[in-house]
Amino acid sequence: TMAKSSYAVTIAGGGSTFTPGIALMLLKEHDRFPVDKVVFYDNDAERQEIVAKACEIYFKENAPELDFSYTTDPEEAFTGIDFVLAHIRVGKYAMRELDEKIPLKYGCVGQETCGAGGIAYGMRSIGGVIEILDYMEKYSPDAWMLNYSNPAAIVAEACRVLRPDSKIINICDMPIDLMDKMAVMCGLKDHRDLQYSYYGLNHYGWFTKIFDKQGNDLMPQIKKHMAKNGYLDGISHEEGQEQHIDESWIHTFGKAKDVYAIDPETIPNTYLKYYTYPDYVVETSNPNYTRANEVMDGREKRVFGACRKVIESGTAEGAGFEADAHATYIVDLACALAENTGERFLLIVPNDGAVSNFDETAMVEVPCIVGSNGYEKICQGKVPQWQKGMLEQQVSVEKLVVQAWVEGSYQKLWQALTLSATIPSAKVAKQILDDLIEVNKDYWPELK
Ligand code: NAD
Repeated sequence: TMAKSSYAVTIAGGGSTFTPGIALMLLKEHDRFPVDKVVFYDNDAERQEIVAKACEIYFKENAPELDFSYTTDPEEAFTGIDFVLAHIRVGKYAMRELDEKIPLKYGCVGQETCGAGGIAYGMRSIGGVIEILDYMEKYSPDAWMLNYSNPAAIVAEACRVLRPDSKIINICDMPIDLMDKMAVMCGLKDHRDLQYSYYGLNHYGWFTKIFDKQGNDLMPQIKKHMAKNGYLDGISHEEGQEQHIDESWIHTFGKAKDVYAIDPETIPNTYLKYYTYPDYVVETSNPNYTRANEVMDGREKRVFGACRKVIESGTAEGAGFEADAHATYIVDLACALAENTGERFLLIVPNDGAVSNFDETAMVEVPCIVGSNGYEKICQGKVPQWQKGMLEQQVSVEKLVVQAWVEGSYQKLWQALTLSATIPSAKVAKQILDDLIEVNKDYWPELK
């Protein structure tokens, strides 16, 4: 076991707008997960420095005992650490904007992780995440990497293929957020009050059972709410949740009602709207102002503005830095690994029979029990024909993307795009692909 009196954590993607919130959250959770050393790592020194210098000032004022540093040097960043929390965005928001706008130009869904945009982002992320994993294993071979860099489905499949024995766990916050909403629908506080069953791929799954901690079935109540409002009105406005309540998210939570209608036996992940209602998504998208623009003009300006102010004034007092309450699931997971808590998490793991009528080699999202020796999956049994059909299609898209990346294959990437439920034909898939290749030259392997 690895239980220690204190832990050293590296945050990879130190220049992320989420970094201050996550670092403060680690401090706040110190009683159950004692962190005495935090290192920020990024490959963009200039961007990271703004976030890191502001955090440094905050720590000096609020946690002077913390050993804090930031660096772009892998050896410095990954030596002597217990956990890597990875939230990188290869290509940053500038590339996300293109991921969204290029497919929209051809009348297709333009989204961060779903459809053509997600495929393009996947082709950029694989190398970045593998690189960090290799640094960690070289300098701290016993460490665990908790990855929530997107697109998690493609990244997880790439890790399965390329680094099958690595200590990486891929986890997503969307189902947790949805469970928080379901808890509120039922008059409970948050996801910690629920027991759940779930199966699918990342950003592509279904809840099949929800109980409260006394074992009462909450599905009838949740189904009634979903049929009427989707996930709307179940939104909790706790601190740290502002990331999901921008205009585009309100759309997403409301549309879940129509996604639910397709299969009223299960509660869908919100991301299924991109695959089941792509026409609606395109109609309601603004091809000139996408989610990337919303974030660049909103969250990014706000966080970097606040950081610059802290640096100029030399104090973090009144800067509005807050622990990201929403991200405490990361500490829950680190605790489970470090302290062998045996807690239940929804993780992205090799199927191996967890969904018995589905590809053994798929990276599925299913509940797992986590302890100091890693995770054990909880079998979800057979999935019905509707879900099976959807899963087979999407898992093939994700596998073809990884194969295209490994082999440098234009053909396979074209097949991946053609197979995506968000793209109407091989012709359109090729047009989008050729545009994406053009703008991703600095990030993708060369395709032949
Ligand atoms: P961001 O652009 O604000 O920050 C990402 C950082 O990663 C940048 O500073 C960038 O320079 C850095 N980076 C890029 N490539 C790198 C590499 N190869 N090595 C080291 N650093 C690198 O992005 P963000 O909005 O904070 O999102 C980060 C990632 O986390 C995304 O993949 C996002 O989808 C995912 N994510 C975050 C949350 C969350 O709550 N924090 C939830 C779900 C998913």
